[in-house]
Amino acid sequence: APTETAFKRVLLKISGEALMGDQGYGLHPPTVERIAKEVKSVHDLGVEICMVIGGGNIFRGLQGSAQGMERTTADYMGMLATVMNALAVQSALEKIGVYCRVITAIRMDEVAEPYIRRRAVRHLEKKRVCIFAAGTGNPYFTTDTAATLRANEMACEAIFKGTKVDGVYDKDPVKHDDAKRFETVTYDEVLAKHLGVMDASAIALARDNNLPIIVFSLDEPGGFRAILDGTGTYTKVHS
Ligand code: UDP
Repeated sequence: APTETAFKRVLLKISGEALMGDQGYGLHPPTVERIAKEVKSVHDLGVEICMVIGGGNIFRGLQGSAQGMERTTADYMGMLATVMNALAVQSALEKIGVYCRVITAIRMDEVAEPYIRRRAVRHLEKKRVCIFAAGTGNPYFTTDTAATLRANEMACEAIFKGTKVDGVYDKDPVKHDDAKRFETVTYDEVLAKHLGVMDASAIALARDNNLPIIVFSLDEPGGFRAILDGTGTYTKVHS
């Protein structure tokens, strides 16, 4: 794999499910702590880190609306779920000495600071981890799109998408022994073949701004850091 050691600023996107451990729902504090350590190990290299965390471990808008709830209301509940996850990760990061800010796309000033782009950039320059919460602040979007939006706004060099597997495969590697991992894949191939890296609007937004997406396994201990050290396994989505 090519080395990716040159990064100065990256955005780490994880799903809400990455925080629930084996529980099937909600937050699993030891898992949250493990992820915080993964983040710290990259932060220790001097890399500036943005994070976007999903909310699917607590609430998904589509699920709520499938059960009869109004879609936009359900989506706002999903966005609020991402705030809870962000606060949990903030707490775990600060416990191990990493300064951190939660920045929300929906104002809730008593809980976290509102999104003001230049202020967020300043936090990054001061080596604070910025966790962008409440998605884009709009219903009908996902946290993948929020991740791509914020990565562009913060001029990140890449999105690191932590998943359960170490890259993008031609078919589901959990179900098929002969699934092949791509070293690199283009945005258009991801869209055409429905490779399920991120949702289509997020992929298109990354493509139109030439923002690479690095798909890697979050379950692999030290996996995030290994990519920056040039020893990790991943798939790079590019133009
Ligand atoms: N959401 C939204 N707008 C956004 C981001 C998220 O409405 O900009 C809602 C949406 O209902 C979504 C939920 O928040 O289902 C949780 O986010 P997501 O499904 O992306 O979380 P993940 O699957 O990554 O855990």
